[in-house]
Amino acid sequence: MALTTTRALVLQSFPYSETSKVLRLYTWDHGVRSVMAKGALRPRSRYGGVLEPFTEGHATFYLKEGRDLHTLSGFDLVQSRQALGRSLVGFSGASLLAELVMRVGTEDPHPGLYQAVANAWDAIADAPTPAEALGASLTGAWSLVSLFGFEPQVDACVLCGGDVAPDEPVRFDAVAGGVACTRCRQAGRVLEAESRAELRGMIRGHVPEGGVGRPGTHRALLRAFLEAQLAHDKPFRSLELFLESAGDARAAPGGDEGPAVA
Ligand SMILES: [Zn+2]
Repeated sequence: MALTTTRALVLQSFPYSETSKVLRLYTWDHGVRSVMAKGALRPRSRYGGVLEPFTEGHATFYLKEGRDLHTLSGFDLVQSRQALGRSLVGFSGASLLAELVMRVGTEDPHPGLYQAVANAWDAIADAPTPAEALGASLTGAWSLVSLFGFEPQVDACVLCGGDVAPDEPVRFDAVAGGVACTRCRQAGRVLEAESRAELRGMIRGHVPEGGVGRPGTHRALLRAFLEAQLAHDKPFRSLELFLESAGDARAAPGGDEGPAVA
């Protein structure tokens, strides 16, 4: 048993008893870990109510390899990100990112993943409008998906391998993992060039300025892709809330042609 201190993001927090909490953390040094925060629910807890989702701090805990639950002994706050609780789309988007990390992340350190989650939460918290919070959330989700090794293919057909020009309309094949040319895939809605360009940017971590042009298209793309590639018949709990709340986050009225997936 070793006492360890590491930077940590609180992914999830739930009561364990009348006085204690269990936290799911994404730590810089030890990946995804669960810790018990004894006494965290007491009125004068030494944690002072900071052990909430999206908080970042230096966590000190007793690490017992081979155990599922470790004992927290201290948490020094770095950043609380309380702004994420102010809008439903921001809160649900940040929750979806946390759920992705809990589902796909491992106990091995992955500094790039840690930084991607922290950056995405910051971008969502800083978004001035719901449309931009949606764009920042989508960007975070596609960035994480790509870091997990599931980056969707957007510049060549996933079925025949042929290049598709940036202005060429394509279709999206979530099961095959990317865009398909209209010769290979002849049915289904067309994904137009603008949305594909936005998707390409978001995969690389670029938040679309002012939000995405067609929110409905992007909601459908993310849903189809997560369900086909990562859900494994166990739906993401925060996905529906995110997609419903994002329905209010249109960048502009009209102009949204709906899902671009077959
Ligand atoms: Zn093709």
